[in-house]
Amino acid sequence: MNHMEKLLEYARLIVRTGANVQKEQTVVLNCSVENHDFGRMVVDEAYKAGAKDVIVFWNDVKTSRLKYDYASLEVLGNVPAWQAESRNYYAEQKAAVISIIGSDPQAYFGVDSEKLKVSSQASAKAFEPYYKKMMNSDFQWCVAAVPEVKWARKVFPNHSDEEAVAKLWDAILNSVRIGKEDAVKAWEKHNDFLREKCALLNDYHFESFHYKNSLGTDFTLGLQKDHIWEGGGEYTPDQVCFFANMPTEEIFTTPDCYRAEGTLVSSVPLGYQGNLIENFSITFHEGKVTDYRAEKGVEFLKIIIETDEGSNRLGEVALVPYDSPISNTEILFYDTLFDENAACHFALGECYPTTIKDGGKMTEEELKAVGANQSKAHVDFMIGTNDLEITGITKDGCEISVFKNGNWA
Ligand code: ZN
Ligand code: ZN
Repeated sequence: MNHMEKLLEYARLIVRTGANVQKEQTVVLNCSVENHDFGRMVVDEAYKAGAKDVIVFWNDVKTSRLKYDYASLEVLGNVPAWQAESRNYYAEQKAAVISIIGSDPQAYFGVDSEKLKVSSQASAKAFEPYYKKMMNSDFQWCVAAVPEVKWARKVFPNHSDEEAVAKLWDAILNSVRIGKEDAVKAWEKHNDFLREKCALLNDYHFESFHYKNSLGTDFTLGLQKDHIWEGGGEYTPDQVCFFANMPTEEIFTTPDCYRAEGTLVSSVPLGYQGNLIENFSITFHEGKVTDYRAEKGVEFLKIIIETDEGSNRLGEVALVPYDSPISNTEILFYDTLFDENAACHFALGECYPTTIKDGGKMTEEELKAVGANQSKAHVDFMIGTNDLEITGITKDGCEISVFKNGNWA
């Protein structure tokens, strides 16, 4: 397969397997201007899959950067109603949403963090109906990545622009299983594997997990009492299967947001809003963040944690073996889509209601009452290492090794 054929297969995989676009469905594509060629391929594939209309939102980090530099706090803190409506409307219509990401991980380096905070809070609020429906799998959505020069150079600093982009393309296409066998079949197989792991953990139905490694993580987490492990394909209420992330190697569920004790130490820098948070740790007591530190970017960790009432509690716990295809490349991607699929992680903020029995039908208040966290934020951070030990504790106090030396025990 030559490079062009691989790209076509990738675009098709995103549309058919990732978003699983249905006949006569509207598709919304979010795409960076740098990746316009690939974006157009996705549009073409979406129509071929039967989409009745494809709406494209082009975004450009350089334009956004100029806005951060020049616009006032007041302007940045205001999302015009029509803009909110444009997203919330398509969520309401159950359009399939495809996001092609890939940009400079430090695009907003040096921007006043207050501006980033005000702007992210305004967006979270304006697009809340959209995000709620998304977290609830009310419509199909899929996030996939395409290289961009600055990003590629951050990942491969010792190569030329061209080489770095080519290497990042290889890494991305490998991670989504393109190039060797039939990609659609490979994803079916992969999905079965993730489902098996979920079934096993659902059988144990652990009460809590204990985490320990040499980086300093020493942490106990309660799992929500009716939690369900999920991984691979998810289903909309109409039973349309889709993959929210490409690649995806994680299986995840909802923690009890009132039961977390101890300290989690990051194993990978966290990209947040065009900045990096490095070598950080977060300490919890009774589910709530009581302390946090970072060697770099602590102000962005603060923005995440202080987003709202629920952003200082955990909403997701995810397991990824250290020995996974992405982590085996030993590439640090500086992008959560990849790094979260290379390491065990957690998310601060909103939970996925679909990972609780009947959670999709519960109101916000009901979810909160059963320990399923509610927030406008949802930010994954990675803590998995090659010496991570996770012990599962069952209702009757049995201790079972879940992860040993970073891998499934
Ligand atoms: Zn995750
Ligand atoms: Zn997450």
